[in-house]
Amino acid sequence: MSFVRSVDPLHRSLAVRLSAWFALIFVVASGGLFVALYDDLASRLERRAGAELEVLYRRFADIYLRQGVEALRAAVRSSAQSPGVTSLYVRLSRGGTQVLFTEVPEEWWAVRTRQVPEPSQGLYVVEKVRELRIPKDAMRDFLLTEGQLANGVILEVGRTTDSRAVLVSTLRRAFWQFGGVAVGIALVVGGLFAWRATRPIREVTRTARRILEEGRHDVRVPIPRGDNELTEMARHFNTVLDRNESLIRAMRESLDNVAHDLRTPMTRLRGTAELALRDEGQDPGAAREALGDCVEESERVLRMLNTLMDVAEAEAGMMILKRQPADMAHLLGEVAEMYAFVAEERKIDVRSELPTPCLASVDPDRMRQVLGNLVDNALKYTPEGGAVTLSAAVESGQVVLRVRDTGIGVSLEEQARIWTRLYRGDRSRSQRGLGLGLSLVKAVVEAHGGTVGVTGAPGQGSEFTVRLPGAV
Ligand code: ADP
Repeated sequence: MSFVRSVDPLHRSLAVRLSAWFALIFVVASGGLFVALYDDLASRLERRAGAELEVLYRRFADIYLRQGVEALRAAVRSSAQSPGVTSLYVRLSRGGTQVLFTEVPEEWWAVRTRQVPEPSQGLYVVEKVRELRIPKDAMRDFLLTEGQLANGVILEVGRTTDSRAVLVSTLRRAFWQFGGVAVGIALVVGGLFAWRATRPIREVTRTARRILEEGRHDVRVPIPRGDNELTEMARHFNTVLDRNESLIRAMRESLDNVAHDLRTPMTRLRGTAELALRDEGQDPGAAREALGDCVEESERVLRMLNTLMDVAEAEAGMMILKRQPADMAHLLGEVAEMYAFVAEERKIDVRSELPTPCLASVDPDRMRQVLGNLVDNALKYTPEGGAVTLSAAVESGQVVLRVRDTGIGVSLEEQARIWTRLYRGDRSRSQRGLGLGLSLVKAVVEAHGGTVGVTGAPGQGSEFTVRLPGAV
């Protein structure tokens, strides 16, 4: 079964979509640039055309005033033929009605036919009419300048300009040539960049797929170069994978250990029960003894399961703590008293440095369990004639409890492992125990918001320190 939907490379590729967006934004932006450029150039051209017309007007006025109408006619003809001038309109009139001279470009005249009724014959006659139409549209302008000359004559000079059309076609050509190349470059280069930038995302998908489909929990995302959001994402993703892997491993190990540790007492239980069954009726005393053994073994199994559940509960933050202010020095003293007999039997000197009060808000029963485990271990792992020192103090607002012994000590390498469930040191196998005491200590202390640690070295004893938030 495939857990991760495969990515259709083109349609769903983020890189392709990103580069298409880049190209679109690029086209829109450069289109906007061209429009702004066009507006600016068009208004400049318009101003220039106005100025040119003004110059022409002055020249014609001058020629007319100095040399008369004929000279003006010649000048207009030669101007109309000069390059760059398409259509020139000149009119010279007096009093608005008396036209002295007029020059209208030929293309302004349009010939149209019209039907005129002929009443005498009751028919229509077709007439040809010449109409003057100044060509003017979005691309062409008609500019006219008019003034009264010194002799009272009115001079009009006008022309149509198609500079806007030239400008538009030039710009359009430039846009397609430049824009085509630029969009091509934007697509290719943008695509390459987007493809490179999204590589870590593809790596994350690939890694997730390998984990889900192939069950490869050891694969990790290659960390990209640099320091950015994607590097951070890859790093966090790997950290999550590391955590998951170690959790899975720890769960498997715990399960293996539980199974392994349960097998011995259960086998013993069955052996004892079978033996008792076989000897049934022969020796009631032996049968009773076997039953007693069975109860003892099942108690051991129950204790182990209960402690395992307690640890799991405390670690998951589900342990119900009946907190109340308690003097931890007093609690430690009580625990020391409980173990006085064992200490005496093992000829171990138990010293206490317990000034009161060391107040903390704790569940006293759970704390007795914690301190009991630490004192029990100290007595268990200290040879005869040794010493165990218990102390309680308030340091920087924290209640600090120490259990020091002169026993076998804990090596540096073991110091990290002794807190794991069902872990038992090699040198402690000869002693009774389930390997659960310290994991319960750690889980309960942490559930109280405290910490626990160990120092020491093999053969030099060890010191376990519990720190709890002090009660105000
Ligand atoms: P158990 O004592 O049942 O083995 P614990 O969880 O209490 O389990 O302790 C785990 C391991 O830590 C022990 O097997 C032992 O190797 C080591 N340990 C605990 N307390 C001491 C101590 N006071 N001195 C030396 N080693 C210790």
